Amino acid sequence: MTEPRRHLSDDLLRGFAVGTASEGARLAIACHMALCRACQEGTATHEAALDSLLAARQPAHASPSHSRSRLLADLAALPDMPAQSAASALSPSAALPADMPQLPPALSKLLLSRGSVTWQTLLPGIRAIDLGIPSVWRARLMRFSPGLKIPNHDHGGPEHTVVFSGGLVDAGGHLGRGDATTMFPGDRHAQRTDGDEPCVALIINEAPAQPLTISGRFLQWLTRG
Ligand SMILES: [Zn+2]
Repeated sequence: MTEPRRHLSDDLLRGFAVGTASEGARLAIACHMALCRACQEGTATHEAALDSLLAARQPAHASPSHSRSRLLADLAALPDMPAQSAASALSPSAALPADMPQLPPALSKLLLSRGSVTWQTLLPGIRAIDLGIPSVWRARLMRFSPGLKIPNHDHGGPEHTVVFSGGLVDAGGHLGRGDATTMFPGDRHAQRTDGDEPCVALIINEAPAQPLTISGRFLQWLTRG
């Protein structure tokens, strides 16, 4: 299995460390770190930010490897909103759709806490499961068919993406399983699916995206649900 090459930013990790990261950002961090051995083992290029994250959450006497495994366990338990915190909140009848790729524990736990987990078709080629995180504008698991293009757009707030299967291409290159990126207001990008299989990704918009093309505005209007 190839390892992620695109990691979440130092700023996002520091935000997590000092407690200012949004619920959406925390979920994106949990999902990326569950799939990224470099971030888990502290060999990623942003090791200083990871260490500050560990230092903020662990007692000073804990060993780095112990701290890191504790951190990963804590991340897997995210998000710790009341509705998802108790095991009793998990619905015994809930199951993930058969075509779902293997998801990080934090996300599968969140999905299974919902009564039913089914893809909603927003448009031909675009399906979504709304994660129902009230503190962010929109948090969805998205499924894009091969050949889909997402028109150029700006961002009203941070947009976090973590890919679980298939691929996406944007100006920064290819995003495959485990790869993550955050776009901020002023960052503009168009995206397209890459390869022959559908792309399933977590996409969290802390504020509405801002389409820059007529087709993009139309697409946003169609998928506003
Ligand atoms: Zn990473």
